[in-house]
Amino acid sequence: MDTINEDPIPCVECHAGVLQPRRVTYFTWLGRELITVPHFPAWVCDVCGRREYDERAIQWLNILLDPNAGKPTPSNRRTPPHPRPQTGIHPPMPES
Ligand SMILES: [Zn+2]
Repeated sequence: MDTINEDPIPCVECHAGVLQPRRVTYFTWLGRELITVPHFPAWVCDVCGRREYDERAIQWLNILLDPNAGKPTPSNRRTPPHPRPQTGIHPPMPES
């Protein structure tokens, strides 16, 4: 028996197709920022196109995107002040 045992995952949407492993671009929101993750592992139905994202990949992504995962949320987050850009305008040196 040297056949590779691949369990076909039946589609719960159409019950006719099988979910195929694919690499898709995953979109998620991090606060107000839209994060795109290319080549994200997902399962796509070959009949209706339903997408199931890899659960472990989602968890891995959440850990990546949320550095406070598993930790108690800090009471206040310090935001560094924006560095003021140099104007480049200097007062003329007095010449005498
Ligand atoms: Zn389907």
